[in-house]
Amino acid sequence: MKIIREIAELRKYRAEQQSGGRTVGFVPTMGYLHDGHLSLVNRAKQETGCVIMSIFVNPLQFGPNEDFERYPRNEERDLDLARSAGVDAVFLPTVEEMYPSPIRTKVIVSDVTERLCGASRPGHFDGVATVVMKLFQMVQPDKAFFGMKDAQQVAVISQMVNDLNLPVEVVPCPTLREQDGLAMSSRNVYLNEEERAQAVVLSRTLDQLELWAREPGMTAELLEGKMRSSIEAMPLARIDYAEVLSFPALQQIQGPIAAVSASQESLPAAQWIAALAVRFGSTRLIDNRIFQGGVRLV
Ligand code: AMP
Repeated sequence: MKIIREIAELRKYRAEQQSGGRTVGFVPTMGYLHDGHLSLVNRAKQETGCVIMSIFVNPLQFGPNEDFERYPRNEERDLDLARSAGVDAVFLPTVEEMYPSPIRTKVIVSDVTERLCGASRPGHFDGVATVVMKLFQMVQPDKAFFGMKDAQQVAVISQMVNDLNLPVEVVPCPTLREQDGLAMSSRNVYLNEEERAQAVVLSRTLDQLELWAREPGMTAELLEGKMRSSIEAMPLARIDYAEVLSFPALQQIQGPIAAVSASQESLPAAQWIAALAVRFGSTRLIDNRIFQGGVRLV
């Protein structure tokens, strides 16, 4: 596995893949790898000839009071995991390599960034879109693999790729979970024992949605209320948001929930998302599920 720290070297490696006739799959991450990340690598290996992973904790997407400094990092372990997953090259730039001078150009995606994590983490998606755009310019991947655990990120990056005609295919991949259902996340290591036990409430709540959504007269607002009550049953849980929106447009849904697919049958936006962000102490966890009508999709 090739370890690359400089942009110039990455470009050279990319060009070699081009002349060798290999398609390039790209898996951007912030490291502290878990099986969720590695499932993206597996998918990339199935679909492309060469897999490049980036590991970069991007300061631009963290707010001033967020966990940039204490975000978990372990380069040696990450490299071992990436190597055994079959990654061909890992790009590990420093902050100075990525941002040698204060950045004055940003990619700002409107509308789909206004709700959910965009509302509770102002500027977060500007940082995400900007770094992903920069990485796309460096790696020039044929396909880029993103986890649906961060469904809004998939919506934002897809919007950017469409709006700016970027020559890359965004491939959304399913969320990997721990045995009890908790979505895998690098941030799960922050949880103490009690918080970890209660954190299962996110996936358990999402599991209930399919049933709730089948109840006659069910609306997005009623579903949100049910999600809130379910989460609030856990004494350590503090809800950041619990929302039901159309997906991927992330617009509010009016009227009965079944009408989402009925009234917009021919549109991809016939899907809807139930999305949660919940704090346990200082740890903020997210999870979501995508539905079509009353049927679970992701
Ligand atoms: P992160 O390192 O948290 O920025 O995540 C890097 C990529 O891995 C993103 O596309 C995430 O959506 C994806 N990812 C994170 N957690 C999971 C998971 N549990 N299952 C699948 N993909 C994930």
